[in-house]
Amino acid sequence: MTAMNDIQKLFPSIDGNENQREELIKSMKQILTEIDGLKDPSKLTLGEMPEYTEDYYNRIVEQAIVPEMGLSMDNTVQKLLDLVKGHRYVNQNYVANAAPLPNTASLLGNLIMVLVNGNNLWDVEGPAAATAEVEVTSMLSKIIGYDANASAGFTTWGGQGAVFQSLRLAIARYDIESNRKGIPQNLYCFCSELSHYSLYKSVEATGIGVDNMIRVKVKDDHSMDLEDLKEKMNQVIEDGGIPLYVLATMGTTDTFGIDDIAEVKRITEKLEQENGLKPIYIHADSAMGGMYTFFNDYDFENNPLHLDEDTCDVLMGYVQKFRNIRIADSMVFDFHKLGQTPYITSLFLIKDKEYLQYVDLDVSETPYVGNRGYGSYHTSYTLECSRMGSAMAIYASLLAFGVEGYQRLLANYIRVNIAFRNTLTSEVPNVALTNEISPITTFRFYPEERKWSDERNGNLTLEEMTEINQFNDAFAEVLGMERDTIFFGNTKKQRLIKPIDVDQRIPVYAHKFFSISPYTTLEEVDRYVEFLKEHMALFLKTHERILV
Ligand SMILES: *Cc1c(COP(=O)(O)O)cnc(C)c1O
Repeated sequence: MTAMNDIQKLFPSIDGNENQREELIKSMKQILTEIDGLKDPSKLTLGEMPEYTEDYYNRIVEQAIVPEMGLSMDNTVQKLLDLVKGHRYVNQNYVANAAPLPNTASLLGNLIMVLVNGNNLWDVEGPAAATAEVEVTSMLSKIIGYDANASAGFTTWGGQGAVFQSLRLAIARYDIESNRKGIPQNLYCFCSELSHYSLYKSVEATGIGVDNMIRVKVKDDHSMDLEDLKEKMNQVIEDGGIPLYVLATMGTTDTFGIDDIAEVKRITEKLEQENGLKPIYIHADSAMGGMYTFFNDYDFENNPLHLDEDTCDVLMGYVQKFRNIRIADSMVFDFHKLGQTPYITSLFLIKDKEYLQYVDLDVSETPYVGNRGYGSYHTSYTLECSRMGSAMAIYASLLAFGVEGYQRLLANYIRVNIAFRNTLTSEVPNVALTNEISPITTFRFYPEERKWSDERNGNLTLEEMTEINQFNDAFAEVLGMERDTIFFGNTKKQRLIKPIDVDQRIPVYAHKFFSISPYTTLEEVDRYVEFLKEHMALFLKTHERILV
């Protein structure tokens, strides 16, 4: 026995011996068995939730201390499993947001990633992840219509990281000096008023400043109003500013609005010509919708998956829009949303790898890694230094699902939403659907009869709209209390609408149904609607009492 023997037992083997492997398998089996034991399809949570008293986290702070002596592995695992109790588990009762139930292949990909623990910074330190990253970059470039020989890609910290990195590329491409001298003060970014706050944070952090982020109005289908975009870009130019960057959202986070990239490109090119501007960068924020590019080459005529007609109609409409992602300078695949993989699995794709030279580090700045005679893949252009190899989980999913598997999964989100919309509006008289058919349905209740078309057309007063908002807000609280049965989402800014009597647009509150798991099936739809109907009936009774 050497002195390090006990410590070595805390690690996997280096010689592949069976004993140490069995130890690991034993712990994993314990974990899987105990988590399975907590699963209950009639609930959303794994076992009982801890009591989140006011001082819950304070008490944790008080008690927390590194144990003087290490615990046994059994005890350690038990402590970890304690944390899992009451955890939300994405099953058919979760219809709130784009939270994934990671598919099995992606879990195994993740496991292999951590077992060999490559550093995705450099292929010498992480060959598996490097090859996987190159491979998924090429695979997905081909899906969306980028030239795989010209494109580049890397996994990064979410859809938000992709927005940030794209803005950084845009700035450096516009002014190569900016890396040394700081950024010019007259740069402007444009995005939909319903875009994700990723750009907001990115203009803060890059120094462009929030004042130089121009929000463009949306149309009834929640896509950017391109007339408004054109007007606002012209205004910026007139005032001496430089339009640098347009964020085209491909599936807004709450309502799945899809911007018309082809038209955005026409507008920016025209402005460039008319005003002698440098190319304006377009990033497709496809964090929510990007997976739908998997239908780009679907044969709708022969319909090999036998998708129903309504679903096909929606998907054909998507293809018209998502095919144009290839026009964008960059885009993102957030597999941890509709692709059903663990956090964080986001691939940032760049149309032209030459852009990376603008942000790559000088060789003299990276003395420790890369730029040696050995190794040929060194991601010195990313904002991270060490990087997890999350391409492994993406790669695993793409292999296990194939294009067809993803098409089935993605078509089901739509099919279930169509059924939900039909059942909800026929069963509940005081509800209105407030977005287009998509994986997300937004809906809004009214204290009496539905007034959505009047409201949307700006015919209600501020007082009426406020009352309806409060009605929906209060009902969201009721539903939130019952989220262990079915967890619906909600939003306080589905879109902005101007009341008839004031000059300001106000946000509309809405509820969300987000079919996000393969277990959210047609068979479940009646139960979702029944749940809403029952709770609304009760709510209306108490609401009337308050009004009287
Ligand atoms: C979710 C989302 C993001 C942010 O993605 P993360 O992976 O959570 O960082 C950005 N844009 C859109 C449109 C999104 O829906």
